[in-house]
Amino acid sequence: MKHAKHIPRKRFGQHFLADANIIEAIVDAIAPQPSQAMVEIGPGLAALTQPLVERLGQLTVIELDRDLAVRLRAHPQLSVIESDVLKVDFVQIAQTLGVTKLRVVGNLPYNISTPILFHLLDCVEVIEDQHFMLQKEVIDRMVARPCTSDYGRLSVMLQWRYAMENVLFVPPTSFVPPPRVDSAVVRMVPRENPAAVEVKLLSEIVQVAFSQRRKLMRHTLGQWLTAKGFSGVFDVQRRAEEVPVADYLTLAEQVKNITP
Ligand code: SAH
Repeated sequence: MKHAKHIPRKRFGQHFLADANIIEAIVDAIAPQPSQAMVEIGPGLAALTQPLVERLGQLTVIELDRDLAVRLRAHPQLSVIESDVLKVDFVQIAQTLGVTKLRVVGNLPYNISTPILFHLLDCVEVIEDQHFMLQKEVIDRMVARPCTSDYGRLSVMLQWRYAMENVLFVPPTSFVPPPRVDSAVVRMVPRENPAAVEVKLLSEIVQVAFSQRRKLMRHTLGQWLTAKGFSGVFDVQRRAEEVPVADYLTLAEQVKNITP
């Protein structure tokens, strides 16, 4: 693209991939196939965008930075949505493209990565799969097993709905400018038969449970359940991190069915 040099903007979390081997490894992990419907969040200077679109034929991109969006529009194979991704309706993108499922990818702006994950959870029914570059520490929490210090709200709120794996480690030196943290790429595939869960209620339960993760839950979730009039069986003589995802789901189902 023939344009003036772009100065990375810190407020947009701009760390551009500049390592050909890593870029190739990420694209291989994504494994794009011709004419698949894909959306890239934060294409930036097109480090991933170009190799992706070469395999796909065409690609929808969402970019907030106006200057970058101008450059991207010059590319004949890209549909550019100039917007904050948190305001983008992915169901509508799928409808516009005439497909039922979208593949979503991106080297995300780390300052808003958790809100982006929850925004996409809201429209998971139109998602085929997601591949995201994130802070490695965040991915560790997403994929964490019970009884580990990384297991928490993010683990429960995502694991019930997605199968997830860390597919690639990426060091700071792969970016310009380098971020201060290690990065990794996570693959997220929506589960086929998820529990019928009320996300808001599950979120509230998990938040209360982990509000004081060192304490036994009778001091936190136990009191919350009593206030709700819960009379079922749930062992609150445990720490929140000892409770498997399935137990939180069962509890959310039981709380939903409490008749006042
Ligand atoms: N994919 C590129 C750039 C990654 S940096 C690469 O790997 O090199 C993150 C990108 O997300 C930047 O282009 C930044 O402008 C964009 N971005 C930041 N906040 C955004 C938001 N809220 N919505 C959409 N894009 C955003």
